Amino acid sequence: MLTGMQIAVIGGDARQLEIIRKLTELDARLSLIGFEQLDHAFTGAVKEKLDEVDFSTIDALILPVPGTNLEGQVETIFSNEKVILTEDMLIKTPEHCTIYSGISNAFLNEITTKSKRRLIQLFSRDDVAIYNSIPTVEGTIMMAIQHTDYTIHGSNVMVLGLGRCGMSTARAFHALGAKVKVGARKSEHLARITEMGVTPFHLSNLVKEVSDTDILINTIPHPVVSAAVISKLPANTLIIDIASKPGGTDFRYAEKRGIKALLAPSLPGIVAPKTAGLILADVLTQLLQDDLLNRKGKE
Ligand code: NAP
Repeated sequence: MLTGMQIAVIGGDARQLEIIRKLTELDARLSLIGFEQLDHAFTGAVKEKLDEVDFSTIDALILPVPGTNLEGQVETIFSNEKVILTEDMLIKTPEHCTIYSGISNAFLNEITTKSKRRLIQLFSRDDVAIYNSIPTVEGTIMMAIQHTDYTIHGSNVMVLGLGRCGMSTARAFHALGAKVKVGARKSEHLARITEMGVTPFHLSNLVKEVSDTDILINTIPHPVVSAAVISKLPANTLIIDIASKPGGTDFRYAEKRGIKALLAPSLPGIVAPKTAGLILADVLTQLLQDDLLNRKGKE
């Protein structure tokens, strides 16, 4: 149970609703910031404006998956209010207050470091990233179907990266009957790609490998799909870039060449917010319970 815990949930999309539901079931008291347009009410949760929050009482602060942008603004799907998290707010929290987000950036790293508050990035956990890759792949398949006039079965699909998303993506497209090639840079990844029954290639050969690609799926958060690569793609290739913003594709050059290139962020929140929210809610409740027990043990 989370009885006695005061938690601020700041912004987010439908995934956050599963988190709110689960935390209120466990008897936590919640301040919901950026949810005033949400019709649903949760027992034990109070909608507040950011300037109404008493940060000195907050034991944990939950941000949406992207955290903040580089100016500190938090995405709020259920509000028109501009919500900006500042270092001053964090300094007002008790020292034990932990900040939870999916991923982080330079701004969030800086304000948590300067205020000496612990930041936990849920997506840096393998378990969360692997579970989350399941709705991500379903979203990628949806986009491939929506933006092509041919079947995935039989098409040439290239996946860049063999991380948590790359592996799930390669497996799923292979299972759907696509001819899948996967590009990676580590020898153990190339070995794993071979073991999976798909075709490996080293990323240094990317320019030479792309000439027969129907669908190129990038999972690498680094500018790998460069102008040089795009110049060798067939004109009707579809690029789906799922890497975190700004993606790894030269979108300007793709547009210039008339190649359809889509940056596809937050797919789990779009195609399966309930599942994606439950993945986060499960791990968050575990971490919050551990945190509470830890503090009680020290008292
Ligand atoms: P991951 O497990 O860390 O995998 C990243 C992959 O990129 C690894 O194969 C890594 O290879 C490779 N890589 C990183 N930097 C590279 C570089 N400079 N050159 C070549 N390869 C490089 O991450 P993930 O969980 O699969 O997530 C992949 C991306 O998708 C992330 O940006 C994540 O935020 C994003 N994501 C998006 C969605 C969505 O809905 N769009 C959902 C989930 C995740 P090495 O091991 O060789 O470094």
